[in-house]
Amino acid sequence: MPERQESESRKLLGRLRAALAETSAGQARLNHIVSLIATSMLTEVCSIYLFRDAETLELCATEGLKPESVHKTRMRLGEGLVGRTARTRTVVNTANAPGEKGFRYMPETGEERYSSFCGIPIQRLGEALGVLVVQSKAAREFTADEVYALEVVAMVLAEMTELGAFVVGDAGALSPRHQRPVMIRGTIGQEGSVAGRVYLHEPRVVVTNPISDDPEREVIRLREAIDTLRAAVDGMLSSEMPVDPEQVQVFETYRMFANSKSWLRRMEEDIANGLSAEAAVEKEQSLARSRMSQASDLYLRERLHDLDDLSNRLLRILTGQGSDTGAEMPENPVLIARNIGPGELLEYGRTLKGIVLEEGSVGSHAAIVARAWAIPLVIHATGITTEALNGNAILVDGDQGIVHLRPEETVRKAFDEKIAMQARALERYVSIRDLPAQALCGSVVALHMNAGLMADLPSLTGSGAEGVGLFRTELQFLVRNKMPQRAELSALYSRVMDSAKGKRVAFRTLDIGSDKVLSYMKPNDEPNPAMGWRAIRVGLDKPGVLRMQLQALIRAAAGRPLSVMFPFITQPEEFRAARAEFDKAMARETILGHPLPAKVEVGAMLETPSLAFANDRFFREVDFISLGGNDLKQFFFAADRENERVRRRYDTLDVSFLSFLEMIIARCKAADTPLSFCGEDAGRPIEALVFAALGFRMLSMRPASVGPVKHLLRRVNLTEAKAVIDASRARGDQSVRGAVTEWLAGLG
Ligand code: PEP
Ligand code: MG
Repeated sequence: MPERQESESRKLLGRLRAALAETSAGQARLNHIVSLIATSMLTEVCSIYLFRDAETLELCATEGLKPESVHKTRMRLGEGLVGRTARTRTVVNTANAPGEKGFRYMPETGEERYSSFCGIPIQRLGEALGVLVVQSKAAREFTADEVYALEVVAMVLAEMTELGAFVVGDAGALSPRHQRPVMIRGTIGQEGSVAGRVYLHEPRVVVTNPISDDPEREVIRLREAIDTLRAAVDGMLSSEMPVDPEQVQVFETYRMFANSKSWLRRMEEDIANGLSAEAAVEKEQSLARSRMSQASDLYLRERLHDLDDLSNRLLRILTGQGSDTGAEMPENPVLIARNIGPGELLEYGRTLKGIVLEEGSVGSHAAIVARAWAIPLVIHATGITTEALNGNAILVDGDQGIVHLRPEETVRKAFDEKIAMQARALERYVSIRDLPAQALCGSVVALHMNAGLMADLPSLTGSGAEGVGLFRTELQFLVRNKMPQRAELSALYSRVMDSAKGKRVAFRTLDIGSDKVLSYMKPNDEPNPAMGWRAIRVGLDKPGVLRMQLQALIRAAAGRPLSVMFPFITQPEEFRAARAEFDKAMARETILGHPLPAKVEVGAMLETPSLAFANDRFFREVDFISLGGNDLKQFFFAADRENERVRRRYDTLDVSFLSFLEMIIARCKAADTPLSFCGEDAGRPIEALVFAALGFRMLSMRPASVGPVKHLLRRVNLTEAKAVIDASRARGDQSVRGAVTEWLAGLG
């Protein structure tokens, strides 16, 4: 960077700092800033466009264009050169703007006179906030040094926008960022509504001092922070840490960046140009994020991700804002995260009242945990992690997959009314809680609940479930940070049985792998973990944990009946091998003189299509079969349950899937083997009704679904429902959903 440009950039930032320190209102500040930039850059025009909403940019201040166009000229994201700069988040620099593809002529601004155009995205950590534009009559491209100086300025503008420094108070103008109401439409993860306060899983780091006039001091601060960071990374690599090669590789990459001279040099250059140490780190981080969003190479993306993570650590050191920012958990906390694993979610416990994820997926186990807790969950809420601040008011409408952040009073009132209505519906379910799910034709369907934690057990009475049809034992393993001991597990299972007060609990042995990763077990880098080394495959290959778990279950039962089932059985041989482990455990307990369970039933989870075609002997030898609909459906349709793009492509009520289920029902019936359906679909009233009509006499679901499912089953005649389903199939429908829904509507 040439001396002249360097000092120009510093001088400009110095003037900007003075302008920002003034106590003038937002608009006056903006006006002052554009005029300062135009003078310093020797351009006739300087304008600032900021996002009015996610799709619209608004001219907020200008030097050189017609003043009356301010707050009037707007453009859509991607429209014109300004829109292009914002959409691509890259600099648009041209000597002949009117000749550029996509140029939009805006007569109200008088900009046709300007030939050169340089648009710089105003962005913070990869999030576009607006565009800074300079224009001049002379046809010329701006030099790399000029663009650099403008990028530094844009960086400061981004920080100030974030802090609300450009809030314009008059009517029709922009209201403060992070203060205006925002409505985000996502995808339904778990029904229910809640009004609460935001609690960020990963709080944002706030930089309040983007400009500095003391570069020496800032460089010292940066170097000190980097030293601290290096020491921390070395600490992570020290011998006390678990020597897991994959983790070591990540830390090595951290170390490589922390020692990277070019990274440090670029940040020091930014500081020399007037940025504070924090702003310099963020500038590099923003750059890495925009590269990350464009990089198609997986390795490169991962490295950029590592750099992003490292930058966050550095920012936290510089600002003194730890990863745990110490933010108090508010009352009625609604957790906001980009994504979250089931283990992390379980650590929060039941204090959470709602969850909103920027990414996430309905079929994930984090979603299953949310569902088990009956906590409203909205996923794919684009922008939530950047829009929400700790403590903000938030309404989560899990029935429609909508989130209202900082809602207006009218929205809030309508929402309160909705919550009250839901409470009234719940009362209706309480009145039928102790009645059987008996349809009008006389058939009775046993409704059980799914559980996985001790804390779920009180729902057994509250929901009216007849037992626990699926106890996901892995949740206990996920909440811990080390492998539980046998005695611990045995005490826990015993307490579960105590709380069930004689009702049946079907314990499923450990189902880890896929998205259920134990922090204390070596992670497996598998290309397709859902079809990889998971569940009983792990149990049989490394039987130590399976054996310990079986012993713990047998000891816990001590004189009481015990139901155990194995997950993800694909072939009869796997079931036989697992059952042999159980029998061995029983024999050992007998030798040790421990009391045995009063009665034992050992079942298999049918979660892969192959098992449905197993030989008759298998169907006769299992004590019961529990159909894991979540996995079975994903393998039947070859549609990843965690991939939102394909997950809902195939309806559970698709006639092919129903025929497949009927075949399983028939095979179980022929062998006189009890069968239950325990995937998430069992808790959806229409699906539950169709399953019952096909012949399922036991369904296991999340506790909150027992009421609505029972309510519907008690209102219908299953023989009639079956006739509706058969007629729909005979007509050649792809799914029976339409016919069943119509029939139900006709019942009133
Ligand atoms: C299923 O696959 O339907 C099931 C009940 O098991 P999980 O959701 O825990 O994989
Ligand atoms: Mg499963």
